[in-house]
Amino acid sequence: MNMFAAIDTPIQYVKGVGPKLSDYLARKGLRTILDLLEYYPRAYEDCRQARDIRSLVEGETVGLKAKIIKVSHIPIGTRRKIYDVLVMDGSGSVHCKYFRIPFRGYFERFRPGMEVRVVGRVVNYRGKIEFHHPDIYEFNKDENLDALVPIYVETEGLTSRKISRFVKAAIDSLKTSKVAVPETLPKWLRDKYRLRGRLESFEKIHCPPPDSGVEFSKLKTPYHYRIKFEEFFWLELLLARSHEKLKTHSAIAVRSKKNLCGKILANLPFSLTSDQKSAIDEILKDLSNSYPMHRLLQGDVGSGKTLVAFLTAVEVIESGYQAAVMVPTEILAEQHYKVANRIFSPHGIKVALLTSKSSSADPKEILAELKSGKINLVIGTQALIQEKVEFRNLAYAVVDEQHRFGVEQRQELKNKGISPHLLLMTATPIPRSLALTVYGDLDVSIIREKPPGRVPIQTRVVFQNKRQQVLEFMAKQTSKGRQAYFIFPLVEESEKIDLKDAVREYEKLVIEFPKIKFGLLHGKMSSEEKDEVMQKFRKNEIHVLVSTTVIEVGVDVPNANMIVVEHAERFGLSQLHQLRGRVGRGSLKSFCILLMGNAVSNESRERVMWLEKTNDGFELAEADLKIRGPGEFVGTRQSGALGFKMADLVSDIEILKEARQAAKNLIAMDPELKRPEHIVLRETLEERQRIFIG
Ligand code: ADP
Ligand code: MG
Repeated sequence: MNMFAAIDTPIQYVKGVGPKLSDYLARKGLRTILDLLEYYPRAYEDCRQARDIRSLVEGETVGLKAKIIKVSHIPIGTRRKIYDVLVMDGSGSVHCKYFRIPFRGYFERFRPGMEVRVVGRVVNYRGKIEFHHPDIYEFNKDENLDALVPIYVETEGLTSRKISRFVKAAIDSLKTSKVAVPETLPKWLRDKYRLRGRLESFEKIHCPPPDSGVEFSKLKTPYHYRIKFEEFFWLELLLARSHEKLKTHSAIAVRSKKNLCGKILANLPFSLTSDQKSAIDEILKDLSNSYPMHRLLQGDVGSGKTLVAFLTAVEVIESGYQAAVMVPTEILAEQHYKVANRIFSPHGIKVALLTSKSSSADPKEILAELKSGKINLVIGTQALIQEKVEFRNLAYAVVDEQHRFGVEQRQELKNKGISPHLLLMTATPIPRSLALTVYGDLDVSIIREKPPGRVPIQTRVVFQNKRQQVLEFMAKQTSKGRQAYFIFPLVEESEKIDLKDAVREYEKLVIEFPKIKFGLLHGKMSSEEKDEVMQKFRKNEIHVLVSTTVIEVGVDVPNANMIVVEHAERFGLSQLHQLRGRVGRGSLKSFCILLMGNAVSNESRERVMWLEKTNDGFELAEADLKIRGPGEFVGTRQSGALGFKMADLVSDIEILKEARQAAKNLIAMDPELKRPEHIVLRETLEERQRIFIG
């Protein structure tokens, strides 16, 4: 029997589970006892002090005991329904609203008169206190009423109470079996950071002692600390290790001459901002190392990152090597290509454009010239990472709008050279806590300062009753020769949701404003069609561009000074900020109008109002992270892959910092985790590696 036998035991052998239920649990990702132990309660209900409905305060997460009065649904629009469970206690009543069904059969369980527990966050909707998507459980009279009851996320056919029973049975069997739960963290680390034991933490989290207090409900006990610390620690350890490993690869050390670079700069109609200069210096310093650069360049929209990439590429090219810039859209690739051509071709640097539909030149010729080294700089979309693309000596790979790409794609671009220097660029400012996790193995340069002379954008959050005024304002702007963007969340009418869509609204606008020339742009169009529309917009042959978020990244048309976003509540703050960045690029006074849909909650409104309050992308990113969680920044797939089951990137940032420091110290002391006391660490880390990204 190996030492992990106990927590490795299939869930089927837990008392009360059996083969049939274990199949179901396996589909939910619960296969072993360990999976069950790591299915942590998301809250605790304190049965000792029930809350009155009358005393509820907006923003708090509470549990209360109440009786169901009525279950109903309210149709909104033609297709959607809101489900409403009205509950009461001695002090008053409160509505529990659901905008979708949590799982099949959820509402069918409830009857008027049923005693329930309601656990959720209190929201204020148009001046009234209510719950949105709370968890409602049938109240069980057998439950021990003077204790904290753990609340688990329920699924169809699996109540919180059942889960609690299984976990308790599993813990009991672990405690009576002779095989201990293996401790994953070395003793010195546990001592240094005062971390509780692993089994003890599992036990206390699932079965809080009778005298425990409010710190449990806040998930802030020494036991929670231990688990959160460990979750962060594995990620930070991986990052620290991969950062260390980079230094073992060898890259071309570029000795910058600043010769051509100076000439190019002298030809530009403006001078660099000091943030651009320092970013360039940081990059050049990295490029001069004989191990590969791994750097992230963060800069708000319009801060001039492209130029930083091009000016550093010059040094690589002057040293006789090739550089590549990969961007997410064809529109952007063409835009960059034009800029690059303009500044480089007078100096004999050969620039090429490679997209899946390269209109500019024969792709065969481009491929041949990339291979022979005749092309010095190539700008392209994902077409760059096709197998047939070969370079002579790629030494510098730049990925623009890097969050649009997956880790694999970035890696594939790197594989086109022999450990080339890598520069990732993003206009989505990443909150500090996330930068420490997801990008923990990157060095970061930041451009905060915008080029001088930009007029601040006026932002207004507006409701549908003002829509006509907005349209008329737009008509007035275009009659003065200005241009506008009109952004929609969807391409076409949707069966499921009642949202304005780009195609239908475009058709309406064309009829309503015959003097304005409208264009339509969305992701379902072919790239030729998109290009044609973009070209016309650039030449002001189209005055108002009706579009989905395909224009979100990077597009630069200085004459456009107005952007209207429909259903602004559907977008993340960072995304809205990106969209807003499409205007305010010239010296014109610019406007961003955020139109809210009907029936939006106060919460959504407050959220979107952030854009009126600040123009600082970093501040918005922090707010977005607090409100919507990390998915916005790292992509849902990747945020799941971080493997956090309890730790929270917003509220647990202090723990994250400690775990990061601990990981760094450990790697500095024992880079390959070879010491005997670190063997368990290394093995666990290798197991975890599969879970994490990169
Ligand atoms: P982003 O950082 O969003 O990618 P861009 O690189 O597209 O920004 O730059 C936005 C615009 O600002 C471009 O038109 C570019 O030519 C211009 N620009 C870049 N640097 C400066 C500068 N130092 N002074 C004035 N304009 C600049
Ligand atoms: Mg850009």
